[in-house]
Parts: sequence; C-alpha cells; structure tokens
Amino acid sequence: MKLLLFDIDGTILLTDGAGTRAANRAFEKIHGLRDAMKGIDAAGKTDPLILSEMYGNGLSRDYTDGEARELYREYVLFLEEEVENCRIEIMPGIPYLLESLSSRTDVMLGIATGNIERGARIKLRKSGLDSHFSVGGFGSDSGSREALIRVAIERAKIRLRDSEDFEKIYVIGDTPHDIVHGRAAGAVTVAVATGRYSLTELLEHRPDYLFEHLADYENVIRIFD
Ligand SMILES: [Mg+2]
Repeated sequence: MKLLLFDIDGTILLTDGAGTRAANRAFEKIHGLRDAMKGIDAAGKTDPLILSEMYGNGLSRDYTDGEARELYREYVLFLEEEVENCRIEIMPGIPYLLESLSSRTDVMLGIATGNIERGARIKLRKSGLDSHFSVGGFGSDSGSREALIRVAIERAKIRLRDSEDFEKIYVIGDTPHDIVHGRAAGAVTVAVATGRYSLTELLEHRPDYLFEHLADYENVIRIFD
C-alpha cells in the first residue's frame, strides 16, 4: 500500500485570494485593523504561522489561544462566503489524476495542508474533489508542517489492516515547505510548479520528482507504481 498526501492550495486548486480575504475580514472584525494579511507570504505556511505573522504585523505581539479560537471561528464563516463567490481554479490534470488513483487498490489518498481542517473542507467541497481523500493532516493539528504530515501518516496507518504498513509515502505540493517538511517526515517528495514557485525555485530544494504541472497525468501516475 502507498500513501499519497496532497497539499491543497496551488497543488489541487486555487481560490483566487478567498483565504486572504477571509483572514483579513476576520481580523478586521475582531481587532478593527484592515489588511492584516498585507505583506504576508502565505504560500506553504500553516494557518497558525500565518496567524502569528498577522498578530505580529498588526499588533506587534503573538495571539492567545482564546484569540485564535475566535479568529478561526470568524474566518471559516467568511471563508464559506468568499469561497462560494470565488472563481475556483482546479489545477491541470488533477481531477483525472485523482480519479485514476482512487480506482487503485494499492493507493490511499490523503491531505497534508496548512489549512485548518474546517477551512480545508470548505475549499475541497467547492472543488467537488473531497470524496477522493480518506485521511488528512491539517494546520489545526500543528503549526509545523512536518508535524501535521506525521499526523496524517499516523491517521492513515490506523486505517490499514493488521501487520500492513505503507511501502512508500509521497508528499505532493507546490512550495519548498512541502519538499523540506515532506522529506523530514520520511516521504518521497513530489513538487509541482502550479503555485507561486517556479520549476527553478523548486529544483533548488531537490524534490524527488518535479513537474511543471500534472496535466500529463498518465505519465505522472507512473511514479506511484
Ligand atoms: Mg500549497
């Protein structure tokens, strides 16, 4: 059995800034400050890390647990609305790749994303691709990408039969964070340049596989044989 853990933003889909707008609206509602996401590079970062940067930028301090709970509560409400109204873009080849992988009995599909779980589910539901994934690790599990990948792996292992183990685990993502933390968690790393990072930038972090996009999904799928 192989486990494939997909990142969401820039790998499966793009929501045309819906997450940023929702985070800005939540922060403004609670703290009265506009554009708290300004200057923050969210690509590949977990929601807790992004939240830290918002508090650092806007209020020159970190957040408390209570503030995080309140902010996430507002954020998912705004995100529902923003995602509903956004032009969601599914990355090339992704529907075919997931369809094809889902039909295989030697593959388990999961999510490894910095989004908090409720945010991830909102985005995936809108894409119509959520049914392909049986497990996940999320930003609500840890602010560390390596740790949330490990959580996804542990959850996936629980679904295996006794004495079975994964022969290989793959992390598929669009940023250096996916490569570096995927490797640290013991995964084979698959980078795809459909997000903010170019092939050259991703190559510097030496992923095991590198693709410009996954449109040629019949070729891509061979690396999971
Ligand atoms: Mg990403």
